[in-house]
Amino acid sequence: MWKDLAIERLRKSKFKLTPQRFKLLEIIEKIGYKHPTICEVHEQIKLDFPTMSFSTLYSNILNLKKLNLLELLNLFGKTRIDINVRPHINIVENGIVRDLNDDELIEKIEEKIGRKVKIVNVIVESECIKCEKDLYMLSPL
Ligand SMILES: [Zn+2]
Repeated sequence: MWKDLAIERLRKSKFKLTPQRFKLLEIIEKIGYKHPTICEVHEQIKLDFPTMSFSTLYSNILNLKKLNLLELLNLFGKTRIDINVRPHINIVENGIVRDLNDDELIEKIEEKIGRKVKIVNVIVESECIKCEKDLYMLSPL
């Protein structure tokens, strides 16, 4: 489990496991797979710790990144958390980010661009006849 690993690494690095930090780990474990924005995590933690500032949260998240527990992505101007720290592909479609773990594809991309990659973000514009029809219905003619 991600949280257990995080607790172990924080302890080894002499970080105090404050109730706020513990809650943050719980939240990240629960919604991390969705690649949440830091704002979304902030809203969640404020439910229990209303006074926690964005900058305190951000520095806590940076510490988790330093311990190789997560990566940060910048997508559409928003910083998101990725708890999958293995090289992988993020498929981004309609604002939803999903992991695609495909070592073969990662190797191919690395060969093509001539260097190691951590994360590849692929923005997918899907072909959806229904969506196009909906858009067509909305467009003023
Ligand atoms: Zn990911």
